Amino acid sequence: RAKQDGRGVFRFYEAEMGAEVRDRRLLEHDLRNAIVRGELSIAYQPQVEVQTGDVVGFEALLRWRHPARGAVSPAIFVPVAEESGLILPLGEWVLRAACREAAGWKALLSVAVNVSAVQLHAPGFPELVGAVLAETGLDPERLEIEITETALIKDVARAVAVLERIRSIGVRIAMDDFGTGYSSLANLRAFPFSKIKVDRSFIQSVDTNPQSAAIVRAVLGLGSGLDVPVVAEGVERPEELAFLRGEICQSAQGYLLARPSPIEMFADITSGHITRLGPTSGTPMLRV
Ligand code: C2E
Ligand code: MG
Ligand code: MG
Ligand code: MG
Repeated sequence: RAKQDGRGVFRFYEAEMGAEVRDRRLLEHDLRNAIVRGELSIAYQPQVEVQTGDVVGFEALLRWRHPARGAVSPAIFVPVAEESGLILPLGEWVLRAACREAAGWKALLSVAVNVSAVQLHAPGFPELVGAVLAETGLDPERLEIEITETALIKDVARAVAVLERIRSIGVRIAMDDFGTGYSSLANLRAFPFSKIKVDRSFIQSVDTNPQSAAIVRAVLGLGSGLDVPVVAEGVERPEELAFLRGEICQSAQGYLLARPSPIEMFADITSGHITRLGPTSGTPMLRV
């Protein structure tokens, strides 16, 4: 009887897994056509200086509107794109579109683009970055590339070489989701980072959990010591921002300040008309 149950359970998992694999294949198939069908877009989320409230740049976040499924989260389709290699054309599309967009702003704000391990380790990635900058006319100092730590562990020596080539063009490199990956501290020393982004999981309990507060303070201290600015990710509540204001934290990003939105929402910022987020841009929020 136990054996029978075991088989039943096994069959159930097998069927579930089969459905999941089929679903991924379907998604992959549709993703293949997403660029040419114009289903991709970029949402931009402001990065705000903690002490002044000034917008200092935007993070470009890929969006996919599937004709039948509607909005598919990058948390779902980016892994599918990475496994299938589709992240290469998708990532190139995002890089080019974000650089072209930022090159058109009157305000000389920075733009941050997420880059996956697959892209970083693909041959010719630094050359691609250089070519896109030349083509769009964006000042390399205004481009920032965001990399998660898991992207680095695959081949450390190679990753260091690639990042150093990108740095040498003048492009900055941010360590994304800091604190959630592997051997963060070793990575900080090994790689030429110009920014640390503290993961949202530490920020969201910074005012209620003494452990989180201690960790965030330690990361901010690390940033000061290494002379690398720190960005707090996923600031949702005023209490979190108040905590950061009392510390040495350069910038913050999160729903409290503004949700990722089409760039048109921030026209008054990108045009240089105003420097701080107001009620017209995203959510009404910041009072300095
Ligand atoms: P990430 O780079 O760490 O981006 C931050 C994520 O947190 C974004 O999710 C953003 O919308 C979300 N976020 C921002 N503020 C808040 C907040 O206050 N609260 C909460 N709960 N979330 C907040 P999104 O856009 O769904 O992207 C998820 C991840 O997908 C990104 O994490 C990044 O790793 C990846 N991704 C997005 N666009 C691209 C891309 O163009 N290329 C690659 N390779 N990966 C991308
Ligand atoms: Mg990011
Ligand atoms: Mg992040
Ligand atoms: Mg993330």
